[in-house]
Amino acid sequence: MSTHLFYQSRLPRPELDRAEGIYMWDTTGKRYIDGSSGAMVSNIGHSNPNVLAAMQKQMERGTFGYRLHFQTEASEKLAARAAALAPEGLNKVFFVSGGSEATESAMKLARQYALTCGEAQRYKVISRTPSYHGATLGALAVTGYAPMTAPFDPMMHAMPKIPAPRAYLDGLDPTDPATGHHYAQMLEDKILEEGPQTCLAFMVEPVGGASTGALVPPAGYMKRIREICDQYGVLLIHDEVMSGGGRTGRFFAAEHWDVTPDIICLSKGFGGGYVPLGAVIARDDIVEAVLDNGGFIHGHTYAGNPLACAAGLAVIDEIERENLTENSALMGDKLAENLRSLMQKYTIIGDVRGKGLLAAFELMSDRATKEPLPKGLNAYNRLVDIAYEKGLIIYSRRTRGGLAGDHFLVCPPMITTEAQLGEITDLLDASLAAFTAEISQ
Ligand code: PLP
Repeated sequence: MSTHLFYQSRLPRPELDRAEGIYMWDTTGKRYIDGSSGAMVSNIGHSNPNVLAAMQKQMERGTFGYRLHFQTEASEKLAARAAALAPEGLNKVFFVSGGSEATESAMKLARQYALTCGEAQRYKVISRTPSYHGATLGALAVTGYAPMTAPFDPMMHAMPKIPAPRAYLDGLDPTDPATGHHYAQMLEDKILEEGPQTCLAFMVEPVGGASTGALVPPAGYMKRIREICDQYGVLLIHDEVMSGGGRTGRFFAAEHWDVTPDIICLSKGFGGGYVPLGAVIARDDIVEAVLDNGGFIHGHTYAGNPLACAAGLAVIDEIERENLTENSALMGDKLAENLRSLMQKYTIIGDVRGKGLLAAFELMSDRATKEPLPKGLNAYNRLVDIAYEKGLIIYSRRTRGGLAGDHFLVCPPMITTEAQLGEITDLLDASLAAFTAEISQ
């Protein structure tokens, strides 16, 4: 344990020595497979030589040019690339340095747009429970995850929440559009309850991240949500901080449902673990209106710095050159097959879900009743520790409130091969065997 440095807890972890591709080594020489790409960040793998070379080149040219003093080639080019990847009509890019900054920026942009439209009474950002939109107070206000929000409740303005569409827990068929409409109706009900004239935006993770464990929306949900937002003049913000960047098998997860939001939040895989980087990509007319009316009252010092943008550009180059989005779709199918075969072997796996390499499984004590494992087993920590011991890194959350159980994200880098997926599956198998033996004692 370091004397000076602190994070969430006193969790002792070994010291990282080096990382390459999907592998990481600690200073004792032990090798780990990065089966969660860190926190779903290192999408193109570690130490990619092309990204390092691009960063080196930019470092020799200059690492910082404050955005109020200079434009830079790297930031201009990255904004153009992000706009080209985004749906039609969303061509305005605002850079930030992380996911929480992205969601905060999106909400402030939406609010200023409402003001320019003469709709000062619109300020509520509706979101879902569970969800995670960031750790800062604004982002936390729209986060539906009590273990992280509760201590800070008095410091935040409470924002309305609706349930996330966890059809698997409610015994509904996710392939039936009636299921999607059922959950989407909760948004309309909430807008009506709050008063449509007060509702500014709806923020949603198209494929859920850590809070829901790769929850995929039921058929019809995303489209219906869009219609409802349009009907009530509510802006639709897609939080693609985790799902964006190709991980789900499309650059933006919402492409799976052919839905265009008004604002997109991006981070994590956008910088690929090479630099802190994020972006807000917004509808042209939203940004034009705000800029025409005094400008966007927002900004972070490091935003759009050329080093981060040069790295981000090189990450996108790599994704495109190596067809990593397509590989994510292909390997995601294979990973899902592997996880389903583990589900047949281990009855404690109650659900397998996800899209592409944003995949997860959930442990339950009873698949039929969806009864979670007893809290005292601390499964979300224990299974992660066992896997870690065996050299596999996975990411877990326990989403309580009596509903979801312990879920585990298996999200290796998008460069992962089929053989490496085999290695990951074998290590998971061994970890689940050890965990099952431990809890049956
Ligand atoms: N939004 C989503 C969907 C996330 O998954 C996260 C982080 O996990 C964030 C926002 C916050 O990002 P950051 O931790 O970079 O602030």
